[in-house]
Amino acid sequence: MSFESLGLAPALLRALAEQGYTAPTPIQAEAIPAVLAGRDVLAAAQTGTGKTAAFALPLLQKLGDGARGARKPRALVLTPTRELTAQVNDNLRSYAKHMHCTSTVIFGGVGMGNQVQALRRGVDVVIATPGRLIDHMQQRTIDLSGIELLILDEADRMLDMGFLPALKRVVQALPKNRQTLLFSATFAPPIKALAMDFLSNPVEISV
Ligand code: AMP
Repeated sequence: MSFESLGLAPALLRALAEQGYTAPTPIQAEAIPAVLAGRDVLAAAQTGTGKTAAFALPLLQKLGDGARGARKPRALVLTPTRELTAQVNDNLRSYAKHMHCTSTVIFGGVGMGNQVQALRRGVDVVIATPGRLIDHMQQRTIDLSGIELLILDEADRMLDMGFLPALKRVVQALPKNRQTLLFSATFAPPIKALAMDFLSNPVEISV
């Protein structure tokens, strides 16, 4: 199995080669073609399986180079913690090295000012913790009407941290015709319920 055979664009293949990735991990081999085909995905995958690239690579390919100059974010990644927003953003940027795609992180515990400025300048991808994202929605400093792709990363941890009401509020504010990917370490009943709510006929992947 190669990254080429998954249908990834040359700009992404170049970035992967430069990072020394030689072959996709199992979660990547299953998730990337499904996301590129437009399917919703429900994936059980622990940290360390390569799950971040499993959603970041097809995300970048779907946004494409035409993303340049976009004023409204087109993809939203929700994660439980500030550390994870930074990690996802670092990975995304390394894969987007040969593309024009902008991203920013949104998390609580710091002032809103810098985040508001970054959003105002315009980004393609927002990586956020749910609570602070709600703050931006309430202050109308983020416009979610252009979101085409929603990714819930470490959904089980977000539920453990009490983010269910925030997640529901965010998803309610998103366009209905979006594509949704949910990654979780487990498929416990609350995750299944969340998937029933947020996903449409998902491909189920377990690695
Ligand atoms: P994650 O599960 O997303 O936290 O990724 C775990 C680590 O594996 C990260 O440091 C990635 O950079 C690395 N990684 C992801 N995919 C691959 C791959 N196909 N080949 C080699 N390393 C990878």
